[in-house]
Amino acid sequence: MSRLELDPDRKLLLATLRDYVEQLREEGLEGVPCAPKTSAAPSARIARAGTPTPSAAQVPPGNSPNPSGAAEILAKYPGLENCNTLEAMRDFIGDCRRCKLAPERINLVFGVGNPKAELMFVGEAPGADEDARGEPFVGRAGQLLTDIIERGMGIARSEVYICNVIKCRPPGNRNPEPEEVAACEPFLIRQIGLVKPRAIVGLGTFAVQALLKVKTPISKLRGAWHEVHGIKLMPTFHPAYLLRNPADKRLVWSDIQEVMKLLGWPIPGRATR
Ligand code: URA
Repeated sequence: MSRLELDPDRKLLLATLRDYVEQLREEGLEGVPCAPKTSAAPSARIARAGTPTPSAAQVPPGNSPNPSGAAEILAKYPGLENCNTLEAMRDFIGDCRRCKLAPERINLVFGVGNPKAELMFVGEAPGADEDARGEPFVGRAGQLLTDIIERGMGIARSEVYICNVIKCRPPGNRNPEPEEVAACEPFLIRQIGLVKPRAIVGLGTFAVQALLKVKTPISKLRGAWHEVHGIKLMPTFHPAYLLRNPADKRLVWSDIQEVMKLLGWPIPGRATR
């Protein structure tokens, strides 16, 4: 058997392991350094989010407004700030080759929805389904997000705007790397500036940490309002995490209800306030 033809048991084991690592990542594990073995205690060798790195320590935690710096970030791509519509911006991005994800992707996944949406959802990065279709959140996690929007909030998916921090799929769904985030950041900032939503829901650890530039785990950030580039941000768990931890759906529903209250939208199943 070649190394790539795994027997079913090993496949299952690998899938379970991958799920487990994903779950740890969602809970804040940032990585296990491949440093040579030292005498450090195991707990000291695991970098958990929430233990501020030197750069994260300089960023105000919790609900503090994000020091925006939007103008400088946008200036990375001269002309981007002159794109006055999402279509113009999509044309500006073109067949993007600005980072090393380009040769690996099938489609650049720009974003979908109402260009004047009051509510924007921001996820991490396209997965295989999104890469194949060129649309964010269309796989299993996407179906759950659609259910949250349509069956939970009682509005059409097309009424909100949905995009990701990273526009191209990292191969094998690996974590996006800092230079990939940096290459895409001006696009996300311009997208937010053009849609001008009244609120953003940040989906999962990665998206929220990238938006707020903090290292705090999602479990500590969710459920409270934050601010990004002058827009209210509600962090919540990623739908992929909810697929593995359905008991936490009630926490997401509670976060979503806060968002609906802020927007003055009626909460289905409740008497109108
Ligand atoms: N996960 C994300 O964060 N974004 C997608 O578009 C799909 C899955």
